[in-house]
Amino acid sequence: LGKRINAAFSELSRVPVVDDAAVDALLKNVCAALLESDVNVRLVQGLRNNVRSNVKEQLNDGEKASRLSEGQRRNIVQKAVFDHLVQLIDPGVEPFKPKKGKPNVIMFVGLQGSGKTTSCTKLANYYNKRGFKTGLVCADTFRAGAFDQLKQNAAKVNLPFYGSHTETDPVAIAAAGVASFKQAKFEVIIVDTSGRHKQEGELFREMVEIGEAVEPDQTIMVLDASIGQAAEGQSRAFKEAAGYGGIFVTKLDGHAKGGGAISAVAATKTPILFIGLGEHMTDIEVFRPQPFISRMLGMGDISGLMDKVQEVEMANPERQQEMLKKIEEGGTFSIRDWREQLGNIMSMGPLSKLAGMIPGVGQMLAGAGGGNDEESGNKMKRMIYITDSMTREELDSVGSLFFAPVKTKAIRAEQEKQLALHEAEGSKKEGKKPKVKVPVRMTARARRVAKGSGTSVREVEEFLMQYRMVSRMVKSMGGKAGWMKKMQGGA
Ligand code: GDP
Ligand code: MG
Repeated sequence: LGKRINAAFSELSRVPVVDDAAVDALLKNVCAALLESDVNVRLVQGLRNNVRSNVKEQLNDGEKASRLSEGQRRNIVQKAVFDHLVQLIDPGVEPFKPKKGKPNVIMFVGLQGSGKTTSCTKLANYYNKRGFKTGLVCADTFRAGAFDQLKQNAAKVNLPFYGSHTETDPVAIAAAGVASFKQAKFEVIIVDTSGRHKQEGELFREMVEIGEAVEPDQTIMVLDASIGQAAEGQSRAFKEAAGYGGIFVTKLDGHAKGGGAISAVAATKTPILFIGLGEHMTDIEVFRPQPFISRMLGMGDISGLMDKVQEVEMANPERQQEMLKKIEEGGTFSIRDWREQLGNIMSMGPLSKLAGMIPGVGQMLAGAGGGNDEESGNKMKRMIYITDSMTREELDSVGSLFFAPVKTKAIRAEQEKQLALHEAEGSKKEGKKPKVKVPVRMTARARRVAKGSGTSVREVEEFLMQYRMVSRMVKSMGGKAGWMKKMQGGA
């Protein structure tokens, strides 16, 4: 979708005048792309009408409009499409947040296979990491092995769970589980339910009964993004029969195009709270309308990344603040700083997802393992070993002591030639010294580090190149505040 919409916008940037006809042509392409990504036909029609009238008013509004440059006119069109998409997926309802020091019961509903059990555990882990005492209750007695699945998941994230192999009444289990966690002063209690019955009516009745028994503070419907157009009907049916206050969209890492999620929100006026981006327990993100649409349109997502970074910051807030402050104030980003960030990145989970969130960095990590997480992980471990073999002086440097210029006869001759040329053209390029690229070689230090870390000189060189790239990027972004500003300005 991002590609097609981007293509439509770049087509717009090629037309000499942004007139009504150009706007119509753009909207036609954008709408075709939206329909193809499973956004409901009525919504697409609505977007087209709304954006068209909004844009035409701004572009043709007498005196003010006549002063607009073509670039400004293009921006107006682009912003109108973006804003309208954001508006569709943002029902304007304040999303649920659990409160500290009291039990917050969260019940999951949704069809079997949508990702309930997985998402329950992801969410439990998410709240646990943020300091809530969290437990899981398995009220799925329908599917054989459901309890074992939740038990395994809970073990992965090291959280307590409640369930039974013998009890067959889901309402009784749910009530008992919630009661026992409440008694033990748990703050977030998540109830997983079953997803399929012989008859739909029976499933909905079971959900209502469990709901009455546990009185959830929040009910979350799990929506599989890969079901496409069916999302609207499914979300409506669950809303009418069981009611829920939030949506968890799963499997957005796959080929799902996300349009179904837009339709579901628009149909039920219910906010999306979280999204699932994979099968690992850390593949969860807080949903935010603007970045979601940016990402859908292929514009990159910086705030999803900031969330991950925040998770690391919570583990060691002073240190991260210190580093950001140093960078923002124009301090150097040393090899030691990069080593620390590598350690942080490794603790944040799958790299490929993380990399996709940072404009430009995907490429760098793709170089470090071709997008394969395991390979990238190994590569990063070797990078850490390299830094482990560096001296204190080397770690605190920006790496120049690992390189020495190569001064051969040929190079000296080239330098002299350039200098002579420069003097000949002296009048034109005054003051500018000619630049001759001097090749560098690795110093004995690099050989020592390679040997000490069990890597090769080539790898040490690669490490230093990557460090330089990141260092440049960090500087150009001017720390965290700069990143955020850049992103907001870009949207
Ligand atoms: P339930 O029947 O609703 O409880 O669904 P499960 O939690 O058992 O999940 C069904 C399948 O979907 C499992 O294979 C999960 O690993 C997978 N799954 C769940 N969430 C995601 C996600 O966000 N991305 C991907 N790729 N797979 C997911
Ligand atoms: Mg399940």
